[in-house]
Amino acid sequence: STPLQTLTVAAATPYPIHIGAGLLDDGALLAQPLRGRHALIVSDANIAPLYADRVEAALRAARPELHIARHLIGAGEAEKTLANFSGVIDALAALGASRDGCVYALGGGVVGDLAGFAAACWMRGIDIVQLPTTLLSMVDSSVGGKTAVDIPQGKNLVGAFHIPRAVIADTATLRTLPPRELRAGLAEVIKYGAIVDAGFLHWLDAHHAALLTGDDAMLAEAIACSCQHKAAITARDPLEHGERALLNFGHTFGHAIEAEQGYAEGLNHGEAVAVGMLLAARLSAALGLASWTDAEALRALLLRFGLPVDVPAGLAPEALLARMRLDKKVQASGLRFILWDGAGAARIVADVDESAVLAV
Ligand code: NAD
Ligand code: ZN
Repeated sequence: STPLQTLTVAAATPYPIHIGAGLLDDGALLAQPLRGRHALIVSDANIAPLYADRVEAALRAARPELHIARHLIGAGEAEKTLANFSGVIDALAALGASRDGCVYALGGGVVGDLAGFAAACWMRGIDIVQLPTTLLSMVDSSVGGKTAVDIPQGKNLVGAFHIPRAVIADTATLRTLPPRELRAGLAEVIKYGAIVDAGFLHWLDAHHAALLTGDDAMLAEAIACSCQHKAAITARDPLEHGERALLNFGHTFGHAIEAEQGYAEGLNHGEAVAVGMLLAARLSAALGLASWTDAEALRALLLRFGLPVDVPAGLAPEALLARMRLDKKVQASGLRFILWDGAGAARIVADVDESAVLAV
């Protein structure tokens, strides 16, 4: 189980991203970032029965002297709470984790964001190793150092920047991922192609069938390329003062759809982003940036990946616009969008005319 690909992310402390099938059984690789004798594995109720024993056994074999504990939360966005944050802190305290302790986040973005935030806070910051098990977490949430929990007033409102010591993406875990979650992750993969890499967008188009059936080598390739783009952008703009905002392509519309429909039902995040990317493409065409042909090509690509392209019935444009005005990324300067210049190019545009937004 040697990694198929290893990238190094430039950051204050550079960290590796390992990608390959079977990496969760590679004790030496898992233990590489460890500095102390305490490790806490945080996971959720779906993932732990599938993978936690293997991770723990591999770590124990590599480091027999290690004190390892496990902390599980329920599955789903509703679990990304301050209460569960406290639970992880309690588990670190019970383990007696010292400042050289390490948290292993085994799961999707929910586990990664929650465990990452707890690691950022315990003793003002201990190591976190991300073991992402969803495509979305492999290409997005485990890279870049954003951690957070939700509060009733909104998603991700309490959090910290805390870069991981390592990211270890075992592509074999994607075989148990529900197909709908795989497609949601592919929406974020398409996003990277759309905003910065036309060649990648064409590659994705050509290999959509293999990617959708979970072909390991193809997925590893797509993950590596996505991580490279996210790493490059976040290295240039770690705190999102500028360019990092390009990663929000499709997200202003997408977040509005998610908030308006309610998070527990309807489209999931990746699906909402798929619809949002198409709306952003159409808005760009309406404003004379990308062409209508570009927008239509994006729509065809999203459909080939089995992603939705229409705003769910019953969501009124005015209601979505009201949600966008509340988005925490909308600045005092007015509605800000990531607009599209066609395959591989995007830009941040402030003060977008509300009537143009309503029209698309
Ligand atoms: P998730 O963590 O809820 O996982 C989706 C579902 O799949 C869950 O039910 C989970 O239990 C299950 N699951 C996970 N891996 C599995 C596997 N291998 N086999 C079977 N089932 C599996 O959702 P997600 O899409 O991974 O992450 C979404 C979260 O990520 C959101 O909270 C979002 O805010 C966050 N996020 C953070 C960043 C960031 O930069 N920090 C970026 C994007 C998204
Ligand atoms: Zn996203």
